[in-house]
Amino acid sequence: MIRQFELVERVKSYDPGADEDALNRAYVFAMKAHGSQKRASGDPYFSHPIEVAGILTDLKLDDSSIITALLHDVVEDTDYSLGDVETTFGKDIARLVDGVTKLGRLELQSEETKHAENFRKLLVAMSEDIRVLLVKLADRLHNMQTLHFISSPDKRRRIARETMDIYAPLAERIGMHGFKDQLEDLAFAELNREGRESVLARLEFLRGQGQDLSDRIVGELRQRLAEEGVEATVSGRMKTPYSVWRKMQRKNITFEQLSDIMAFRVVVDSLGDCYHALGQLHSRYPVVPGRFKDYISTPKPNGYRSLHTTIIGPERQRIEVQIRTREMHEVAELGVAAHWKYKQDSPQVEGRQYRWMRELLDILEHADNPEEFLEHTKLEMFQDQVFCFTPKGAVIALPSGATPVDFAYAVHSEVGDTCVGAKVNGRMVQLRAPLQNGDQVEIITSKAQTPSPDWEQFVVSGKAKARVRRFVRLKQREQYMELGRQILQKSFRQEGYEMTEKGLESVLKRFKAETVGDLCAAVGQGHHTGREIVTAVYPGTKDDAKVQKIVPIARARARQGRGQETSVPIKGLIPGMAVHYAHCCHPLPGDRIVGIVTTGKGVTVHTIDCDTLESFQATPERWVDLSWDVDDGLEQRIGRLHVIVANEPGSLGSLSTIIGKNHGNISNLKITNRSIDFFEMLIDVEVTSVKHLSNIIAALRAMPVITSVERARG
Ligand code: MN
Repeated sequence: MIRQFELVERVKSYDPGADEDALNRAYVFAMKAHGSQKRASGDPYFSHPIEVAGILTDLKLDDSSIITALLHDVVEDTDYSLGDVETTFGKDIARLVDGVTKLGRLELQSEETKHAENFRKLLVAMSEDIRVLLVKLADRLHNMQTLHFISSPDKRRRIARETMDIYAPLAERIGMHGFKDQLEDLAFAELNREGRESVLARLEFLRGQGQDLSDRIVGELRQRLAEEGVEATVSGRMKTPYSVWRKMQRKNITFEQLSDIMAFRVVVDSLGDCYHALGQLHSRYPVVPGRFKDYISTPKPNGYRSLHTTIIGPERQRIEVQIRTREMHEVAELGVAAHWKYKQDSPQVEGRQYRWMRELLDILEHADNPEEFLEHTKLEMFQDQVFCFTPKGAVIALPSGATPVDFAYAVHSEVGDTCVGAKVNGRMVQLRAPLQNGDQVEIITSKAQTPSPDWEQFVVSGKAKARVRRFVRLKQREQYMELGRQILQKSFRQEGYEMTEKGLESVLKRFKAETVGDLCAAVGQGHHTGREIVTAVYPGTKDDAKVQKIVPIARARARQGRGQETSVPIKGLIPGMAVHYAHCCHPLPGDRIVGIVTTGKGVTVHTIDCDTLESFQATPERWVDLSWDVDDGLEQRIGRLHVIVANEPGSLGSLSTIIGKNHGNISNLKITNRSIDFFEMLIDVEVTSVKHLSNIIAALRAMPVITSVERARG
């Protein structure tokens, strides 16, 4: 265990301005807070945060990072709170410690490794400060180094899996190859000890066979370069067991076929020397085609720069050589951390925490493929997403602004369809409340629930939108079908027929409908009138488009049929003359009316304010003065309404309910205009009088979904 003064000294060695006092206090604070707690190894618990801090001094991180490392488990595992940390160490440290604590709460279940990508994103998104992520990675590295002390094989495996799936790739993404190699190797040892050992044995064998092959190659390379005036540090190393293993799996090759297990590194002073060295190697040795890569002119998204080439080198060995400057080498090993370090000496204009961000953005700017970089490492890049958890800990990634309903649909369509409420972090919230990163969301469902059309207003995820919309459409269709069915029944009855399924089936083809339901829906939507259908089913039926209904007096009498000898209740009619009610204005008992005589067709009754009357101004001889005999007719008449109603599911249903409650029958409905928000339609309602119709209009106007209701005139 690193002692207090040692740790402080280490930090001061690379950061002379470090806050010595704060470092000392943090060391003591951690020790006191963890008290007599023990690790699985039997060591005192506080040895862990101190080792983590030690790992970070290797990266030469700033004092705040080291203090955060010392305190990183205090909030989660001891009696001290974040408030205590803030009181003692200030806001900045508290924020960093809080960040690491939150990351620690994200435990991934082993069977949920498929969420690994999301999880990685989450980690990055939640590490608003890159130092949080670095402390977390160091924490994981130390936990992996001490993994073998954990007695439960399941737990060991789970942690190793998580390391392999999440933390090692994460380290790679931010350019920390040293961390990545260590994490990978430790996880590999746990997950596939045999595999690792067999690779190691083979590597050992190859090494033994080559005797000092590696040394001889290193020596020859160094000499060749020196001859050309390139001063270089040349080193050779075996590739890591896991990278060898992966290569064998990926390329489906055996140990025997495995040749380039060694990588050689040439580190030079300047950028010019990199290309100079490369030129020397390429002119001296045969080059393996297709293996040369210039990551200097085109750096990897994580900032990695090097020249890679494979040659048939000294001793006729096929070897991979990486050529880079010292600075590039540090970046390659330490990634983001090294990058920060190199800029540390520049004049300090901003607070340190911001500089971290800026440096990362700096890498971004200079990365050749910023898109890929953005995808994997930029901190703000996930601001368009929120990551939440199921009660079991699975990560659900959603677009930012997502609500519990979006979450429910992301879990399962059925959960979405039946959700009635949600608990976020244990508290009930509104279904429309936007979720935050790291929220744990529990959806409450009810079998009786169906998607609410309101949801369409606030869901943001594609899946939720599509499902809700689909449901709303289905629901709307049901309403149209029901409305259409009512209209059809009425229309058939009016003509003295009974509506039968068989009858409707016989005309499906003609109206391009698949099922009777489709046909009813088409009528309900106003694509066809009820009358059109009746006429198709019973071709003998009169199909006069001009008049809504022809009621010869005789027939009207017959229809009254209950012994009442009431004729048309209009005064001023010429006896024996047929009466038509104009379809343009639909006069009702109570309206002021006038008749227009058409030779051979009888009298057409219009309301006195009907626009159609204009065209008869020139022929006053055709006008007949008429008036209603009664205020409230016994017979049902058509009143036509012009209605503008909100385009919402349920609006048509409630509209027809209101009309029905007021003893009106909808006999026809025609949608004349349809927008996203509104339906504009004409509705024919059978009523007994103007008063009756006025009551219905009043009732409709009281409905919130109705924008306007007027009687249709002309
Ligand atoms: Mn820890």
